[in-house]
Amino acid sequence: MPKVLLLILLTLNLYALKPSVEELSWPSGTPFLNFLESNRLPLSLFYNLSGEDKELAEEISAGIKYQVLRDDKNSIKQILIPVNDELQMHIFLDEKDNYKLEFIPISYQVEDRVLNIKIERSITEDIYDYTGSMQLAVSFRDAFKNEGIDFKRIKKGDRVVIIYTQKRRLGRIFGTPDISAAMFITRDKKYSVYKFNDKFYDRSGKDREKVVFIRPLANARITSPFTLKRWHPVLQRYRAHLGVDYGAPRGTPVKSSGDGVIKFVGTKGGYGKTIIVSHSGGYETLYAHLNGFAKGIKTGLKVQQGKQIAYVGNTGMSTGPHLHFGLYRGQKPLNPESMMRVIKSVLEGKEGVKFKSIVQKFDGELGKILNSNETSQKEEKFPDVVSF
Ligand SMILES: [Zn+2]
Repeated sequence: MPKVLLLILLTLNLYALKPSVEELSWPSGTPFLNFLESNRLPLSLFYNLSGEDKELAEEISAGIKYQVLRDDKNSIKQILIPVNDELQMHIFLDEKDNYKLEFIPISYQVEDRVLNIKIERSITEDIYDYTGSMQLAVSFRDAFKNEGIDFKRIKKGDRVVIIYTQKRRLGRIFGTPDISAAMFITRDKKYSVYKFNDKFYDRSGKDREKVVFIRPLANARITSPFTLKRWHPVLQRYRAHLGVDYGAPRGTPVKSSGDGVIKFVGTKGGYGKTIIVSHSGGYETLYAHLNGFAKGIKTGLKVQQGKQIAYVGNTGMSTGPHLHFGLYRGQKPLNPESMMRVIKSVLEGKEGVKFKSIVQKFDGELGKILNSNETSQKEEKFPDVVSF
């Protein structure tokens, strides 16, 4: 996600009333409570949330675009803040003029897309220039991260082919594109990768993942799994959970899931006492609701995988003691359970048959795209100020 903070103003004129929609970027490191405070919204909007939703309120990514609708007297009528690609927070005034908060799905269309370009400047700049998506550029490099390509040594004329899907809402692209297969041709060498079970493999099917994570608790019992969007039939509402909860008694030692450096030790709103560890490859792990920190744990400290960093607790919320464990790459939450699973090769057994058919299918498509010699059209760029 670009760190550039953009202020885009959309002005809407409706007869006598002149409500306005402002599109703003969420400032880095803003706790949700501070956001409510600075907009003079009731803090009970946060305090009345369930524990899981309090966690979600801490998951608003820096730089994410959110919309504020005001009436003609400049008071807030509605706010929409995405918490991930699937779910958004909706703050609104009800009929009795009370502010309410709910989580609602983001509606969008999904487009099948193909990118076929020759590099003119750099992979990141060119992919962004053609597609308008910085996240596609990041995902592309990510897909090839285990293939040993030196992206600094690419030259003009190298070729990028990507088969992916893109989400779009209100005419504009948004969210993380989903790559199914990609090809990179440099110095007459052709590399291709295929997505299988949420990971990228070359045609050898070997898992070359260099950064491997372990569970932060011994005898971990999952009490709440990872989910981007789930309809809760009993509560009759949508929920999301951007990490895994492990039930464990208060005081159980919490271990670092990988080698890394402590990035944050302290209190983080709905997460209570929290530690964040940065790891190589742009990964971060988050440990929340801690009872306390292990001796000597401080920001900047190097920790090894398995090193005890804290104790399980119940801070930041009202239900029983547990560890909330989050895993991120960039700002994107990943399912920790699928990232901790290491499969040596997907060419073995039943999976192998499935994997080979995927390789065959996409080899055909990639080949067709290459031979067509059709360079992709550039995505239309939207101006910063739009008037209706
Ligand atoms: Zn949790």
